[in-house]
Amino acid sequence: MQLQHLINTIYRATEGEGLFVGRAQIFVRYQGCNVGCVNCDSKETWDFDKKFQKSLDDILKTIESEGYNGLIKNVSITGGDPLHPSHVPSVLELVKALKERGYFVNIEAAGTRVVPEIFDLVDYISFDMKTPSTGVKTPAKNIIKMNEMYPGKFQLKCVVSDKTDFNAVYDAYKDVCQTQENLHFTWILTPCYNTNETFPMERFIDVINWNEEIGGPFRVIGQQHKWIFGPNKKDV
Ligand code: SF4
Repeated sequence: MQLQHLINTIYRATEGEGLFVGRAQIFVRYQGCNVGCVNCDSKETWDFDKKFQKSLDDILKTIESEGYNGLIKNVSITGGDPLHPSHVPSVLELVKALKERGYFVNIEAAGTRVVPEIFDLVDYISFDMKTPSTGVKTPAKNIIKMNEMYPGKFQLKCVVSDKTDFNAVYDAYKDVCQTQENLHFTWILTPCYNTNETFPMERFIDVINWNEEIGGPFRVIGQQHKWIFGPNKKDV
């Protein structure tokens, strides 16, 4: 029986956030997520709607054609929540096929689950720590587990919309440092840039200053695609 692959869209873009900012890649956006972030900017990806079903063959062909006949060799698997248990068999099949074809594969993880069967196979993991403004919690134990299991293989991204978010990240940082001698990953603060918002310069400056005031344990990296294309443009 053929596996079910629920795919919202596959598109070529230049990474706009995190450590790979500026890198051309193909994004494979899974359809279906029940994490429920209140400030989610892609709520259209929440439904596990069967009409989004695609075959592996179609997915691979689209990745190749979007990447100028396979010239672009970086793929980022995103969502939705590609790590929802119902997506896991599909993601495993896709990652194996991409690795056989020589692609570098990054997966965007919501931070709610550590999924070794997938994390062991991919080249890199962009792991989120959800902040209070999202209404979702990433347990500090997940960050500790990632630090122990995947040293050097992941980045931790936190979207910060205000001082409450920043303080929650700093508290998590102190918790993690209590049990971990070294942090083997880059801990990133992404100042929030909401849909319909003009460039939030004050928020960026605040986040930069708050980080400096505590000695700068984090890297502040904005979402460049939002100021290039505007905050409402999808799939860029
Ligand atoms: S995990 Fe991503 S897609 Fe799911 S609700 Fe949160 S921001 Fe939206």
